[in-house]
Amino acid sequence: AKVTRMGPSPTGFMHLGNLYGALVDERLAHQSGGVFYLRIEDTDKKREVEGGVQTIIGAFTSFGLPFDEGATMGEDRGAYGPYRQSQRAEIYQTFVKSLVQRGMAYPCFATEEELAAMREKQEAAKENFGYYGKYAVWRDRPMEDIEAELAKGTPYVVRFRSEGSIEHKVRHEDLVKGKMEVTENDQDVVILKSDGIPTYHFAHVVDDHLMGTTVVVRGEEWLATLPVHLQLFRAMGWKAPKYAHTAQLMKIDEETGSKRKLSKRKDPELALTFYNQQGYPAPSVLEYLMTLLNSNFEEWRRANPDKPMNDFPFSTKKMSGSGALFDIDKLKDVSKNVISRMSAEDVYDAVAAWSEKNDPEFHALFTREPDKTRAFLAIGRGGKKPRKDLALWSDVKPYMDFLFDELFAPDYTMPEHVSKDDAKAILNEFKGQFDENDTPDDFFAKMKAIAEQHGFAAETKAYKQNPEQYKGHVGDVSMVVRIAVAGRQNAPDMQSVMHIMGAEQVKARLDKCIA
Ligand code: GLU
Repeated sequence: AKVTRMGPSPTGFMHLGNLYGALVDERLAHQSGGVFYLRIEDTDKKREVEGGVQTIIGAFTSFGLPFDEGATMGEDRGAYGPYRQSQRAEIYQTFVKSLVQRGMAYPCFATEEELAAMREKQEAAKENFGYYGKYAVWRDRPMEDIEAELAKGTPYVVRFRSEGSIEHKVRHEDLVKGKMEVTENDQDVVILKSDGIPTYHFAHVVDDHLMGTTVVVRGEEWLATLPVHLQLFRAMGWKAPKYAHTAQLMKIDEETGSKRKLSKRKDPELALTFYNQQGYPAPSVLEYLMTLLNSNFEEWRRANPDKPMNDFPFSTKKMSGSGALFDIDKLKDVSKNVISRMSAEDVYDAVAAWSEKNDPEFHALFTREPDKTRAFLAIGRGGKKPRKDLALWSDVKPYMDFLFDELFAPDYTMPEHVSKDDAKAILNEFKGQFDENDTPDDFFAKMKAIAEQHGFAAETKAYKQNPEQYKGHVGDVSMVVRIAVAGRQNAPDMQSVMHIMGAEQVKARLDKCIA
């Protein structure tokens, strides 16, 4: 069983990459009967915002990826806490002390100015940047110098005494990237800042060890410092976890046509809040991310249209090591499929919840006669070839707005070869014959009879063979009815629609169009 975790910082901004990584974490843990936990990485107080933790938990909960253990809005859950790094200062300090005692870390009193001067010298000498080698003035200082600074109360950081060299490569087998070699770390990185707060490097090693993480899933931007982390694990005498470094989410830039990273400034779709606000169903977003994660997911989905996504055998082996291309149109296609597989009841509940928050006016109409609304949503649902016209919850309004007189805004433009007089005659005739309880067969029989009466072919085939004999065909006649009742040419099966509307509303619609 695998133990995985998310370690987001409470900056108030959750992005698609967070969810992408969390899906990998969640699948690895739960597919193996393991644990997925949440740790809050709040060591950087400058970047923290109020309510940041709530934003994190809210985002994951709304996508249906709840944590088994870790930080929650109330008490932490689990035996390996506290799960907020800000509450773990003593733990880090204890381990830092042990490293210092063993000579594997040392206090460094260099000031900002001294460090800047060092960087300048390095630059002039075209050397690697960082605190090491001949510039590392505090690395091998005699104890009395250190004690003198401590006595004066000079602020200091604690640096890791690296034993590496950039001449060496570290072998690493990544769950995503495969076998690779990374340049060994030769930098004496800071592990404890002057305020006693650990850096990411140290907190990662201590926390993931103590909390029992077996697989660390994180962005590939951490690969460069992986050698530091591996060295730190060794120095502590701990076994390093396995790593899965995930590739960046990319998109095709609309202007340049070339691939680039998603940007917070240019791409609203980077923010996780975007999906809920726009009305993307959470399962659609997850399924789309899964198609990006595992190239064989789409094929599996086609073969198993009704299985829950979690039945898919997710594997890090199928993940691409290079950037995944995010395409919002592809997400919409996936979403159409996801919604088409849902029951009318579930669609109703989701749209009711979404519109309550995001479109209260529509919500009032949508929920006014729930049975009618559900019956409308059921049209063309189920069966082998369900309708696929809805990608977003916000698509439901334009899909069914004509049902509500308050939103009915008809365009009475008739098919080209139907004159105004013919249209009126057809509608008058239909009004006299309409029965809301007709079966589809009854309805088509009536359409055919009306077609013949008014000089339209009862069969499309007959019209196609002798177009000059007719004004048009039965399809034109039913289109006239559709335009009158729905106020447009695109609407689901009219017989079902009119049955749901009922005689009174249908007749009022016919009258309105005839007038
Ligand atoms: N707080 C880190 C980040 O947001 C976590 C990285 C990790 O998962 O180790 O990038």
